[in-house]
This record gives sequence, C-alpha cells and structure tokens, in this order.
Amino acid sequence: MVEENLKPISTTTRSGEKNQGQLRIIFWSKEERLKRALKAAGIGLGLTFIFIFLPIVHFILVPLALIITPLVSVYLYKQTEEVPKQNLICPKCAANVEVSSSNKFEKIELICDSCRSVLEISAN
Ligand SMILES: [Zn+2]
Repeated sequence: MVEENLKPISTTTRSGEKNQGQLRIIFWSKEERLKRALKAAGIGLGLTFIFIFLPIVHFILVPLALIITPLVSVYLYKQTEEVPKQNLICPKCAANVEVSSSNKFEKIELICDSCRSVLEISAN
C-alpha cells in the first residue's frame, strides 16, 4: 500500500529567516516495495535478453545489465519513503523552491534559485 502523509516542517536560512510549511511524503509498504523491486528486475532481465542480440555492444551491455538489475531491485526494496517533487516557499525571498528526495526524510539542504541562500528543511 502506498501511503501519503503531510509532515509539518520548518525552512530556515543561514541568516536566520524561518517559515513553517508542510512536506508531502510517500511511504511504501513491504508488499509495494517488493512489487516495485520485482517490476524493476523484470524490466532489467527483459532488457538484458534484448541486449544479447545486439552485435558487439552485447559484450558490454549484457554484463552491465546483469550487475545493475539486482542493485536497482535491492535499492527499490530498501527505499521505504520518498519526498515527491513539490514546491516550498523560500523564507527570505518568498520564491517557490522545488524540493524532492528519494531518501528517508530527516533533513534536506538546498539552495534557493532566486536569492542563492542555503535553505535547511527539517521536521518540526
Ligand atoms: Zn530565496
């Protein structure tokens, strides 16, 4: 099951401006992670099979796909949560700042495109 949650966060700049907001976070259940991992493995093995028939480049692509496929599958299985692409408001210049992360949310640091300040996003 895919569960979506809104987490209260605060955005702080190095010079002390601060605002509050909410961050959308997606949580993957164990079954959903297994489904995503198996889907990636299927696509990887399918591509590997297609690569077998490509002359010359199959010497590189087949071993590469055989190495990458399990790594991607394990990565997807271990990924428990994700911060999807969304906008937050910069506390200094009030511009929209795009934020996203494929890791577990603890703290995100990013740079505002319009005022170049470093923004630190952390849970409240
Ligand atoms: Zn800004």
